[in-house]
Amino acid sequence: PGHLYLVATPIGHLADMTLRAVSILKTVNVLAAEDTRRTLQLLRAYGIRPQRHVSHREHNWRRSSEWLVRSMLEEQASVALVSDAGTPLISDPGSQLVRAAIARGIPVVAVPGACAALTALTVSGMLSSEDCFAFYGFLPPPRGASSGGKRQRREVLLERVVREAHERPILLHEAPHRVRETMADIERVAQQYARMQSSVVTINEPLLRVCVARELTKLHEEVFRGTLAEVRQHLERNEPRGEYCLVLGPEGRVEASQGPAVTFDVSSEQPVSVPS
Ligand code: SAM
Repeated sequence: PGHLYLVATPIGHLADMTLRAVSILKTVNVLAAEDTRRTLQLLRAYGIRPQRHVSHREHNWRRSSEWLVRSMLEEQASVALVSDAGTPLISDPGSQLVRAAIARGIPVVAVPGACAALTALTVSGMLSSEDCFAFYGFLPPPRGASSGGKRQRREVLLERVVREAHERPILLHEAPHRVRETMADIERVAQQYARMQSSVVTINEPLLRVCVARELTKLHEEVFRGTLAEVRQHLERNEPRGEYCLVLGPEGRVEASQGPAVTFDVSSEQPVSVPS
């Protein structure tokens, strides 16, 4: 059979595409992408014009996986799966396709590269070499679908996230229009947790620390580290815009109040020419 390549693409900075990703994307028979228009536009920057492209997304993965496995991979065609940005399968489609390919003996090959959550974790200052971390992706939305089940699941996850964040770094994705509400919920649950714990030791303020990593690798990259209250104030003063990763972790890893958010202007780097 052909090979199924899982190809990471940049999360912002065009020069974060790997040489191997460019070479694989130039040679595969089929490109499977979440948003084909968006991916074709990205690939033009590297001079890549796929032979054939199909959409592989949330609402068609079943049909698309079946076609990719039976009509393409089992017929010797090679397929590259990419998502809109970053590493496929990480809060993105592809897991069922990978399982279907494995079940049929098709070689699955990762072409690693950018991943927003891991990028946020590395700059957060929350990781210590001897511990593990956890990734929760997007929490269920606070409202919408207005189903009690979803709300309840969000609360259960919030409690778990807050409890675990006292032990190890926790990674979350969040959309800009929800980041304030999610941080407010985390603060509320963390206060409840602190009150619960204070029967054992006296705690006046939740001990968690947060790193808010926004627009990583992009022109308006910004990293803010602080306490829950400091992050709330930061988000009150600055209208949330762009893409956010949140890293929660135990106190002690990151000092409270780091002053203003650290911004990084990628255009200050040496220009990189993109291989074509
Ligand atoms: N598969 C992707 C990856 O490996 O990074 C993640 C896809 S998920 C649908 C999109 C979320 O990733 C965004 O809502 C945001 O939380 C995070 N994200 C993506 N690009 C980012 C960036 N440049 N800076 C910060 N967060 C980013």
